Amino acid sequence: MKNKPLIILALVFLLVVFLAVILTPLYKKATPKIKPVVKGRIAIVLDDWGYHLDNLDIAGGIKQRLTCAVLPGLKNSRKASQRLHKSGFEVILHLPMQPKGNIRLEKDTIALNMSRQEVLRILNKDLTEILFAKGVSNHMGSRLTEDINQSSVIMLEVKKHSLYFLDSFVTAKSVCAPLAKKIGLRFARRDIFLDNRDDPEYIKAQLKSLKNLARTHGVAIGIGHDRKNTIIVLKEMLPQLEKEGYKFVFVSEIAKVER
Ligand SMILES: [Zn+2]
Repeated sequence: MKNKPLIILALVFLLVVFLAVILTPLYKKATPKIKPVVKGRIAIVLDDWGYHLDNLDIAGGIKQRLTCAVLPGLKNSRKASQRLHKSGFEVILHLPMQPKGNIRLEKDTIALNMSRQEVLRILNKDLTEILFAKGVSNHMGSRLTEDINQSSVIMLEVKKHSLYFLDSFVTAKSVCAPLAKKIGLRFARRDIFLDNRDDPEYIKAQLKSLKNLARTHGVAIGIGHDRKNTIIVLKEMLPQLEKEGYKFVFVSEIAKVER
């Protein structure tokens, strides 16, 4: 057996390869990735979808969880809600409600002088249009969300549909929070508006404030809009914030019944 040492060498080699193949996955399993500590949870809501479809493609490139509030009754309401849902975002109905002052209103804006029947007719029509809605938020509404009667009609119906209510919080005198608590409705409230100025530097600064709030309170909700600058800044900043340890969630993950 002239080749004996060679055969032994080959067998040893095969054994080493065999052990490497068998043991590598075991080793990997034995050393799980250490989960980073979550510094805070952040829900970002983008309002006023439905006017156009211009920003859907850029938004589609965002991998983090976003909640998108779609206005009803517009040319692209249905299409936008379908495509946003398809992109993996949470869709909610952005219900137009009467503001203070003389601002141009959307058609079928819920007004103070409407009957209960009229309010319910509009809300239910809107919910059949904005498919996949997981919740309802107010578009404008600085006048209406101060009114306990009309707000009750809306919020009781939202509860009946097993949805949550997000208060855009456009007036400090909003009755929505105590009302939601009283009727046992899942509820959340905006903390910070992200894009009151359509300026990337301003939006970045607002995101930083939102992050700080999430760190101190554990959770924070920021509202921006279906605008190019806002969406581009989000696409750039959210992966960074995620690396820093912030977790992006849908509003449905934090809306809760206050006790
Ligand atoms: Zn709005």
